Amino acid sequence: MFDSYTLNTLRFYPERCINCRRCTEVCPHGVFFEGESSAVLDSPERCMECGACARNCPPGAIEVQSGVGCAAALMRKALTGKGEETCGDGSCCGGDESCECC
Ligand code: SF4
Ligand code: SF4
Repeated sequence: MFDSYTLNTLRFYPERCINCRRCTEVCPHGVFFEGESSAVLDSPERCMECGACARNCPPGAIEVQSGVGCAAALMRKALTGKGEETCGDGSCCGGDESCECC
């Protein structure tokens, strides 16, 4: 069975969530959706580790190691002109066929 927790660094602690819904607004891959009392981590395998959710989460209910995966590769390529625009090996999404970034 595919286990995204072994393939990316996204961690969600719902007990800390204050349900502000910022993560659902900023995530470009729809990883979180709105829940009744807290955000719901819906599709962790789609996380590209951009870090936007964690940076915008007031109580620190989300942790992710940004700077890896396709988002980092895109920024590196744009800023330096070097390297590839994708992680190149499916490591950001675990080779998910629905992922459009690599
Ligand atoms: S790190 Fe980026 S892609 Fe991953 S869940 Fe957070 S906002 Fe979405
Ligand atoms: S940004 Fe953080 S506190 Fe706000 S809904 Fe998402 S997980 Fe909960």
